[in-house]
Amino acid sequence: MGKVDIKYTKLFINNEWVDAVSKKTFLTINPQDETVIAKVAEGDKADINKAVEAAVKAFHRYSEWRSLDASQRGRLLLKLADLMERDAKYLGELETLDNGKPVAQATGEATWSAQIIRYYAGKADKILGNTIPAAKYQMVSDGEVLTMTLKEPVGVCGQILPWNYPIPMFVWKIAPALAAGCTLVIKPAEQTPLTALAMAALIKEAGFPAGVVNVVPGYGPTAGAALTSHPKVDKIAFTGSTEVGRIIMKGASDVNLKRVTLELGGKSPLVVFNDADVEQAADIAHRACFANAGQCCAAGTRTFVQSGIYDRFVAKAAEIAKKRTVGNPWENVQQGPQIDAEMFNKVMGYINAGKKEGAKCIAGGDRLGTKGFFIQPTVFADVKDNMKIAREEIFGPVQSILKFETFDEVIDRANDSNYGLAAGVITKDIATALAFMKHIRAGSVWVNTYEIVTPQTPFGGFRESGIGREMGEDGILQYLENKTVSLSLPKKPRL
Ligand code: NAD
Repeated sequence: MGKVDIKYTKLFINNEWVDAVSKKTFLTINPQDETVIAKVAEGDKADINKAVEAAVKAFHRYSEWRSLDASQRGRLLLKLADLMERDAKYLGELETLDNGKPVAQATGEATWSAQIIRYYAGKADKILGNTIPAAKYQMVSDGEVLTMTLKEPVGVCGQILPWNYPIPMFVWKIAPALAAGCTLVIKPAEQTPLTALAMAALIKEAGFPAGVVNVVPGYGPTAGAALTSHPKVDKIAFTGSTEVGRIIMKGASDVNLKRVTLELGGKSPLVVFNDADVEQAADIAHRACFANAGQCCAAGTRTFVQSGIYDRFVAKAAEIAKKRTVGNPWENVQQGPQIDAEMFNKVMGYINAGKKEGAKCIAGGDRLGTKGFFIQPTVFADVKDNMKIAREEIFGPVQSILKFETFDEVIDRANDSNYGLAAGVITKDIATALAFMKHIRAGSVWVNTYEIVTPQTPFGGFRESGIGREMGEDGILQYLENKTVSLSLPKKPRL
């Protein structure tokens, strides 16, 4: 590990770096070796109030930000994307330090995120309303009405982030919101505040006016809750657990009625039919489950395999998992540590539950080493639908393999979940793939591949996996209000 320079640890409010009003700080921990990385200013209600005040001022009708035309907002975003690419190596290294993900992956996430900013930069001056054909209306005595719709920014938005993909999640939130013309208060996850602060510095360098983006690290029940229930916040966008998603929805309707978008958990099925190439299918299923150390909301954690290839698939899945390289994230490995002690213990708890409930552990099943939050890639075969490891989101490197016989049976079982974020199918038969696509209840469906997420494609869940969509055209619509304007059209000029 090289030395990573920690440049920013204060709150970013109104384009300035400030201490918390309380002067409190919290520690951010390196998941690789459990050492303290830095003390970070701990925002709470008082700081959220200051940040919201700055965002409200920046949203004032005569503010510098509101006076920019849409293409100027796009240019600021393009500049930000350039700065991210310039600093991708630094951002990636900072993320590896704070989050533990392999450094090549972290750097790749920074450059990918710059593409997302560019996509929304291009959208900023293409936000179009409609004109609705003139109609006769009885209340207008001398003629017709012409109606148009104007798409306007929602206003001041609170954005609450998770720790699993800190840079992409920051960008998924800010890029459409800024393209739409909103102003923002962001609360990064307490486990990973550092890259959000580094992004704030780039936002200032890009030239965004003061108060447009504010970043307040802190804890959920204090800073997060204050943001969620603040009366001057118009919208809350949240990514995290379904449990906290429910709290957010309640808080967002406490004092006012905020618009809410939620990207929550999942227990996504990946279904492999008898006609699949077993090697290829096992490889896709492995990546679907173990990417990002399994800390991925869309992870394909329920691998349903048809009985004709089940035994061969199970053997292959175990073989691939055993070969997965896990360890020092500064080296060329596929998997680093889990994010923190809490998640480590939670995942180990699920592994133990799987063993106790009678699933067959065919790879891994234990921690790796004695220091840091490393867990062996773990595969369970002969998993039954009612087992905890088949029903609950584990958010760790644990694959559950289940056997099935028929199409209808597997659709029923795959859909039997409170979640509905994503699903995958592997088959050579087009009719099977199309029927699967039609009947599965999920926000994203992948055929003979998994986890294709691009700036252009909407992403989000059915059921308890969320409300609304991010990315693509849908992503920006979540930050826009629709204003309907009707004009009286006189038959002839009055003068
Ligand atoms: P979490 O829900 O505990 O925390 C997420 C964020 O919410 C953090 O910033 C946290 O501080 C904040 N928070 C916690 N309590 C709060 C409260 N009472 N009020 C306001 N904010 C509060 O989740 P996590 O542990 O960071 O992430 C893991 C979970 O997130 C998993 O369940 C995963 O599936 C989900 N996730 C979903 C997506 C998606 O796109 N659907 C993406 C990433 C993660």
